[in-house]
Amino acid sequence: MIRTGLGYDIHRLKRGRRFLLGGVEIPFAKGEDGHSDGDVLAHAVSDALLGACALGDIGGFFPPSDPAWKDADSMELLRNVYARVKQSGWKVVNLDCVIICEKPKILPFRELIRKSLAEALETPVENIFLKGKTKEGLGTVGMGKAVEVIAQCLLTKE
Ligand code: MG
Repeated sequence: MIRTGLGYDIHRLKRGRRFLLGGVEIPFAKGEDGHSDGDVLAHAVSDALLGACALGDIGGFFPPSDPAWKDADSMELLRNVYARVKQSGWKVVNLDCVIICEKPKILPFRELIRKSLAEALETPVENIFLKGKTKEGLGTVGMGKAVEVIAQCLLTKE
């Protein structure tokens, strides 16, 4: 059996916050706002995995209204999601992601982020890919006010 999953997330960028992508901190003047640590990539990947298995979504598992998830480590949430996916018998075939922001440049951090996600999802780094895109200055993301992620995964089950 094979199943695809799609995840999307957007976070506002704010001064005084860390810019985290897949557990990797990127030096930048602003970071993702959020109830958790704001790791927009970890959130989109979590939703892609849960969607592929039809298990739910991260808003349902870790509601922002719940103080338990205040400043939560989103990679911890992703590992929790992956444990549920694995328990249902699914394995990651591959994951591909698009990170959309005007700044900072994602490319210098790509290998670190791939490695971090590969470890969390217990899969070789070759199965994980991501790329950065800008919005060419258009809209909210183009004005540098937010960062967006689209994530797509393929899962398999014997
Ligand atoms: Mg989020």
